[in-house]
This record gives sequence, C-alpha cells and structure tokens, in this order.
Amino acid sequence: MSVLVVGTIALDTVQTPFGEKKDILGGSGVYAATAASFFGPAAIVGVVGSDFPQEHLEYLKSRKINTESIQTMAGETFRWSGYYEYDMNQAHTKDTRLNVLLSFDPKLTAEQKKSDYVFLANLDPELQLKVLDQLEEPKLIAMDTMDFWINSKREALKKVISRVDIVLINDAEARQFMETPNLPVAAAKIIKLGAKAVIIKKGEHGALLFSEGVHFSAPSYPQEMLRDPTGAGDSFAGGFMGYLAKTDDRSEKNIRRAIIMGSVLASFNVEDFSLERMRRLQPSEISTRFNEFKKFSEFEILEVKI
Ligand code: AMP
Repeated sequence: MSVLVVGTIALDTVQTPFGEKKDILGGSGVYAATAASFFGPAAIVGVVGSDFPQEHLEYLKSRKINTESIQTMAGETFRWSGYYEYDMNQAHTKDTRLNVLLSFDPKLTAEQKKSDYVFLANLDPELQLKVLDQLEEPKLIAMDTMDFWINSKREALKKVISRVDIVLINDAEARQFMETPNLPVAAAKIIKLGAKAVIIKKGEHGALLFSEGVHFSAPSYPQEMLRDPTGAGDSFAGGFMGYLAKTDDRSEKNIRRAIIMGSVLASFNVEDFSLERMRRLQPSEISTRFNEFKKFSEFEILEVKI
C-alpha cells in the first residue's frame, strides 16, 4: 500500500561539527517520503518556489515517489537554516523562511484522497488540517510537529492531534508542548487530546511508544558515523509508515517492528548530509541493520532468586 506524505520541501543550510552546507535538499516531507519509498509506493504533497532545482524533483521521481501534488509557485522555496553542536540531539534554528509556504493550499488528487496510510510531516498545523479535511477513510494517520508550530499555532496543533492516530514528537518538544519534564506524563496528556498513541523520539537514545496499557522502548543504535542529524525524525517517520503500509498490519507487535524500522532509517540518514546517505542506501543494508537492533535490547529473565 502507498504512503501519502505532506510536509515541507526545503533548501536547508546546515552547520554541524563536520562541515557546513548551503541550500541543500531537505524538508520534512522530502526525508519522510524518501524513507517510505524503500518499502513501496509513496506520494508527496508540498510546495516549491521557482528557484527549486529541477534535479531534486528528478531525484524524488527516481525513488518512484509520486510528485503530481507538488505545486510550483512564484517566489522562493521554504528555507531553514540551523546548526548543531557536539550534542547533536539538539537542533538550533538560525532562521526559518516560510516563503511560498505562506500561500500554499494543498490539494490532493482523487486517488490521494483515498490513501490508507497518511503521514502529516512537520508543517503548519493549519495546512495539516486542510489535508485531513480532504481524506476519505484512511486506515492510519500519523503526524509530527516542532517547537516553531508549538509556539505559534498551539490551538490548531491540538485540533490536528485530536484527529490523528499516532503523534510522533521528539522528547524536548513533548516536554515543552505539554509543560512537564516527565515524558510518560507528556505522552498521557497528548493521548488525552485525542491521539491513540504517542511515539517519543529521543534522538540517539532511542524511541518510546505510549498508548492505553502499552509501553515499548526501542533501543538506541551505537552510531559511530554521525555527520548531520537533520531529517532523522522525518526519516524515522518515513521508515515507520512505509513498513506499516507494506505489511498493512497495525497490530501492536507490528507497530513495535515499525518503530525499529523507523530507527534503522534514521540511523542511516544521519551518516551524511542532506539525502546523501539515502541515495546510496541498499535494501539489504536495511534488513541487516534491523536484525542488529534486536541484539541491543535482548536479555534473559532472572535465573537466581534475589
Ligand atoms: P528533523 O527530522 O526534525 O531533523 O527535520 C528537519 C527538516 O525539517 C529540515 O530539512 C527542515 O527543512 C525542516 N523544517 C525546519 N523547520 C521547519 C518548520 N518550521 N516546519 C516544517 N519543516 C521544517
């Protein structure tokens, strides 16, 4: 089954301890759709400006991502610039220029309205709502957000949360949004807003799943190669959704596998800038790393009495 992704298509300027790159391909929608495309068909809904290089659109098409709902508008493409210090879990935003995003009105094709698996990647929550209004009967909707929208569009964000199945959010943003230092409490508050489950991403420290009566903790990956964490969260989401759509199984057992698959895609993405590692990624590497993750959290039950 196909995954429909709506999110930003960006030109990013990124500085990490390993270098600085200007106007490189990025955006929440691009990372998520690319990661999902390793599992089956994906489509992306978004907007670019007249300055957006054609070669980037060609790259998306080369991944068999349906790009017919990418609108090109007069003006500049969405731009984000940021930097990371040695604690690469924390992105520091220098500048966000919404540009053409300010007048974007997402329109789904008749086929996209019937999508079963939908990911609302980090984007203006009012645009996420416009997409939700066009969907017919999806089997699963997940969403992501960030501090920029938590600070500027809190109420719209709460409305989106009340209409989705799974909220993906990073630890710092969950704490900020729900005004608590405690992650289980933050997750419970998000579920109270109407989501069925919450996945809290903890960067290099793994991810946590919370839903009614369920808790799962995905292990961290001992990441030796880490050059640019940009897009880790979106690649996680794309791997997670792509795997669920491929298997069309939303059982708890399979959601746990999908969380590991998300972690696998994120762990590859951070190995290089922009989409560079994704361009070289081979499907066999994905399965090998997935199986490696199992080793990191396996242990036996107690055999001695305490
Ligand atoms: P992440 O997976 O959280 O590292 O997401 C990184 C991507 O998010 C970058 O490629 C940015 O272009 C994009 N981005 C940054 N700020 C925003 C924003 N306010 N809304 C949507 N996308 C954003």
